Amino acid sequence: AANGAKAGKSRNIVERLEESGKNCIIFYGSQTGTAEDYASRLAKEGKSRFGLETMVADLEEFDFDNLDAIPTDKLVMFVLATYGEGEPTDNAVEFYEFITGDSPSFTLDNETPLGNLNYVAFGLGNNTYEHYNSMVRNVDKALQKLGAHRIGESGEGDDGAGTMEEDFLAWKDPMWMALADKMGLEEREAVYEPIFGISDRDTLTRDDAEVYLGEPNKMHLDGTPKGPFNAHNPYVAPIQKSYELFNVKGRNCLHIDVDISGSNLTYQTGDHIAIWPTNAGDEVNRFLDIFDLTSKRHDVISVKALEPTAKVPFPTPTTFDAIVRYHMEICAPVSRQFLATLAAFAPDDESKAEATKLGSDKDYFHSKVNVHYLNIARLLSTVSKGKKWTNVPFSALIEGITKLQPRYYSISSSSLEHPKTISITAVVESQDLPGREDPFRGVSTNYLLALKEKQNADPSPNAFGLTYEIAGPRNKYDGIHTPVHVRHSNFKLPSDPSKPVIMVGPGTGVAPFRGFVRERKKMVENGQSVGKTILFFGCRKSAEDFIYEKEWEEAKQVLGDKFELVVAFSREGPKKVYVQHRLKEYAKEINTLLEEKAYFYVCGDAANMAREVNSVLGQILSSERNISEAKAEEIVKQMRASNQYQEDVWS
Ligand code: NAP
Repeated sequence: AANGAKAGKSRNIVERLEESGKNCIIFYGSQTGTAEDYASRLAKEGKSRFGLETMVADLEEFDFDNLDAIPTDKLVMFVLATYGEGEPTDNAVEFYEFITGDSPSFTLDNETPLGNLNYVAFGLGNNTYEHYNSMVRNVDKALQKLGAHRIGESGEGDDGAGTMEEDFLAWKDPMWMALADKMGLEEREAVYEPIFGISDRDTLTRDDAEVYLGEPNKMHLDGTPKGPFNAHNPYVAPIQKSYELFNVKGRNCLHIDVDISGSNLTYQTGDHIAIWPTNAGDEVNRFLDIFDLTSKRHDVISVKALEPTAKVPFPTPTTFDAIVRYHMEICAPVSRQFLATLAAFAPDDESKAEATKLGSDKDYFHSKVNVHYLNIARLLSTVSKGKKWTNVPFSALIEGITKLQPRYYSISSSSLEHPKTISITAVVESQDLPGREDPFRGVSTNYLLALKEKQNADPSPNAFGLTYEIAGPRNKYDGIHTPVHVRHSNFKLPSDPSKPVIMVGPGTGVAPFRGFVRERKKMVENGQSVGKTILFFGCRKSAEDFIYEKEWEEAKQVLGDKFELVVAFSREGPKKVYVQHRLKEYAKEINTLLEEKAYFYVCGDAANMAREVNSVLGQILSSERNISEAKAEEIVKQMRASNQYQEDVWS
């Protein structure tokens, strides 16, 4: 209800600032929640250190034609993530189009339209993608062009290099100094003020029907979930079938079929499915324990925002257990700034000194925390040598820990063949790390593994030794289920089936191409004719992780010489053989197919594989067409721009 648009609040920035008595509005353009998180952190810091009256705002909920009417004693901050191929996040599309448009029209008739506007800018990007931080760069440029005044540098965080948090910390201090200087603010001793109030609801127990135990919204609580199912409202889907594609030395590959027939969800081949994971029981216990909440874990509480512009990130009344298990990213890397905040609540002086040191010394933090992948509970327990952190206000945890996010997987089924079943192909790993007794495990993939084990009643439950409350304590659904939604993508087969396609997908990067190949097979079975379909697949060993081997043979039987599978086994010979080496061997054919307007697809690791494939394609075009490498690279760029070259990559 705190959502401005939904609550019928004004979309006028100036009005909203006045109504709420704020002088600093922090807009976020966020897709997965990180930018929103950083915006909240800036809001908190601005308030506690400099007495700014801050509010966090979703770009989607405002109009921007009166940016020119914001008085000079007020301030606007932008925290903007760049999404996919240099695009704005969904909630920033309108703002972006407005501000970077040819001549945005504002309410006043100023000569330099934004001459009165003071702003601050930080971007979240990933340097493994081509358009690194293009959102913040383009918005910054547009604002400058309109005459606005930026305070401090425009910051850029790099998720690709894994330095997002440190980039943010390094950017914000000089920014605060410049801001204090410009606006005449005095820094004060930061005092912690909770943003959320927690109240006991001791007349309620967790058996009461109105208490949320992981249900994402009221419809789910009432047992009447209805579509549209989306990022705010998942469909709780039955798992139809789940099995292992391989299982070797601490590495499993899962195939999972999700049944969406009971919903109005639809998908197209090449889309993504979001899985809403549950935290592992062991990690939930560890977390509740370090904050001394174990005995209160099932107490019913309500959480309210004490700030009119803050939002409680989960529904209440609920329990500590449900919040931690279903709504908090408790296994994520810890932010150094958050640890510094918690130092004030340390159980003794020694722990306080250690937490403060870790919070202020980047290299020390890296060596003690990052390299061991310590999550918050593990870290605090190390810092205090096991002593419980009983004084930490629960509000500080809600503020400092990200909301548990859904994880996206490239769908590996074909919607033509199975419109109501979505397949997932996922590798589950557990990583041994120095200085840790137990391996590091991924949140969502291990949750999927647990679903599979539960469904198949595997004799040794969870190979990786984690316990789960798979369907939540109030399972209204029979069998094994998981909340899901679908995200549409532009990664698509050509609309003309006779066009040739070249697909490059090593490891689980093959997922969408299983869908593509099955789709073309189905087309042929339906009497259509299809163009040449070549798949370059790579894995470690033919006898180990060559996934869907049988399915490729079946496809071959139907598609005949229209289908070709080219494999690269990296760990069989004396030298590594990768998909890009195979591409080179097929240079001639690839060039011919591209001249016939073949579509070229890459899926998998962004940092190395996708980059190398991109550059190998340039080399192929250069040698086959007898043109310079620069010219060939230009052609590859054009192929990307015209969607003839498509990527579905992750880092
Ligand atoms: P994998 O087995 O690690 O790699 C598949 C094949 O690619 C192997 O033969 C590997 O060879 C080879 N390879 C390594 N470097 C390469 C390069 N620069 N160019 C071309 N080929 C290269 O693949 P996987 O197990 O499917 O997944 C890899 C990782 O991606 C996992 O850690 C998984 O968790 C992660 N992943 C992330 C997401 C996401 O959305 N974030 C989704 C799926 C998977 P060698 O290993 O022998 O060098």
